[in-house]
Amino acid sequence: RVVVVGSINVDAILRVESHPKPGETVLARNLDLLPGGKGANLALAAAAGGAEVLLVGRVGDDEHGRRYVAELASRGVDTSAVTVDATHPTGQAFITVDAAGENSIIVVVGSNGAIDPDAAARSIPDDAALVVTQLELAPEVAEAVLRRAREVGAVTVLNPSPVSAAASALLELADVVVVNEHEWTALGEPADACVTLGAAGARWGVADAAPDPVDVVDTTGAGDAFAGALVAALARGAAREDALQAAVAAGAKATTYAGAQPWGFSAPVVE
Ligand code: ADP
Repeated sequence: RVVVVGSINVDAILRVESHPKPGETVLARNLDLLPGGKGANLALAAAAGGAEVLLVGRVGDDEHGRRYVAELASRGVDTSAVTVDATHPTGQAFITVDAAGENSIIVVVGSNGAIDPDAAARSIPDDAALVVTQLELAPEVAEAVLRRAREVGAVTVLNPSPVSAAASALLELADVVVVNEHEWTALGEPADACVTLGAAGARWGVADAAPDPVDVVDTTGAGDAFAGALVAALARGAAREDALQAAVAAGAKATTYAGAQPWGFSAPVVE
């Protein structure tokens, strides 16, 4: 079983002519509510890759949280370890995109920030084969979870994204580190990291793989789709080369639709 410990967010995307300046009001042409959060993105990608996935996360006691958990469950993710927070709302990112495609983003951490490190660690079952986490949660959560994963003998995977000062100290707890080029550089170019290279694919030690060309619509969530497919392949015992191949294909596919996942709150994106 693959255990994903991570964030669950709703992305609210507002399309405007130009970003509002302080004190200014602008009109948005539309509002798209799309599922996001690196943990949920990765969990769905791992399930799509054939893994049995348990997601450890936290949502608010609100419509977004309920709808999101139901969607994850209907798409094959075990949500029994997603807890409900009575006081914090479901995490949300407010993303304003101007006519030139530039975005500015405000993230409401919400319930993601209220995950207790010890509780998250206790949610990892003894039979976990692989545990993966990212850094949209407090670094204390990532640390507790990776330590618990080592205790139960699971393979530990860290996607240190968004990269922060806390990430370096966590690398020694990870058997596999999955990063994009920016993160790889920021972490001092760790030797055996699995590094994604955008349209050029990925490399991992002496292994590399490139995706077939695709019509790119939106690269949001491509790295999460890559990591999810990678852990699904590793959990079923695939060799590095084969895991990389599956991962770059999943990453490329995730660039062909708007948002991080192929469904939306406000309207179906791809059904
Ligand atoms: P991140 O999104 O985390 O910055 P990358 O940009 O390296 O990470 O992309 C992760 C994976 O998504 C790549 O390894 C590749 O499989 C896929 N991908 C990203 N951009 C493209 C693209 N323009 N064309 C095809 N595949 C892409």
